[in-house]
Amino acid sequence: MKIPELFEQKKPVFSFEIFPPKRESNIDNIYRTVEGLTECRPDFISVTYGAGGTSSNYLTCDIAARIKHEYGIEPLAHLTCVNSSKLDVRIMIERFIDANIENVMALRGDIIPDMERQNDFEHANDLAIELQRKCQERIEILGACYPEGHYQSKSIDEDIQNLKYKIGAGVKVLITQLFFDNDKFYSYVGKARNMGIKVPITAGIMPIVKKSQIEKTIKLSGSSIPDDFAAMIEKYQDNPEALYDAGIDYAVRQARDLIMNGTDGIHIYTMNNADVARRVHSGVKDLL
Ligand code: FAD
Repeated sequence: MKIPELFEQKKPVFSFEIFPPKRESNIDNIYRTVEGLTECRPDFISVTYGAGGTSSNYLTCDIAARIKHEYGIEPLAHLTCVNSSKLDVRIMIERFIDANIENVMALRGDIIPDMERQNDFEHANDLAIELQRKCQERIEILGACYPEGHYQSKSIDEDIQNLKYKIGAGVKVLITQLFFDNDKFYSYVGKARNMGIKVPITAGIMPIVKKSQIEKTIKLSGSSIPDDFAAMIEKYQDNPEALYDAGIDYAVRQARDLIMNGTDGIHIYTMNNADVARRVHSGVKDLL
């Protein structure tokens, strides 16, 4: 199933993101997670890809293939390009085609300061062009977008303007960076539509259920913190069980508001925690 077709057929499209284990020896854990996610019958599950060309990148394809063929759920395989040569990318594309993967998320990847860069691809749109060239009609392409602007863009307008390159290169659906303030998302989507971005934009939601995520994830994503979210963290940060429940509750409220306001899709960053994902799904399933 081509993911862009799903967005033509239903609203909202509900999906999950998982990431491959760092060590192949931990592979069974990810399949336990996938099993836990299947009962929600998500429309698709995306599998991330390392930007640094690590060997675990082969796992992205293997896991995506198993999600499709064993669990009967549509996978979205991520692919980054900033630290890859054209040959690396072509090998991975061949692997996707052999595994009958029909949807790929074309990403630049973060620039890792100490890593020697390959210069074959500068931006996600260069990768989208390569994907189009190698497998037009066999693979649909999705891309990333940033409701609060990408950290390298001078402004949100400039960032949205740059989205046109990837859409011109064949990206048919956008998935957002995580955010906690729905108003930022609504304002971004409004702006993108006014600037001529017509493709579906699905909202990335990450339930924050652990204190370690507060420091790492929130700072890395650069997402702004609305008052009610800050109050939740303040109140529960030293009470792990209460934070777990409150973080899920926040994500459910966020997703319900987005769905009721007509958002194209909800994409849950599961952090490989099937329990959290199932509880968020259970909190919104009456609206799906
Ligand atoms: P680009 O689209 O290339 O954008 C990067 C910057 O360049 C932006 O500031 C943009 O405005 C600008 N720009 C874009 N195109 C042009 C152009 N043609 N000319 C000039 N400027 C341009 N990282 C991983 O390593 N693995 C993953 O699996 C992964 N999954 C992700 C999933 C989602 C939903 C999101 C939102 C991000 C994900 N990332 C992942 C992180 C992503 O790789 C980084 O955010 C990276 O810094 C930018 O990637 P991009 O594809 O958005 O890049």
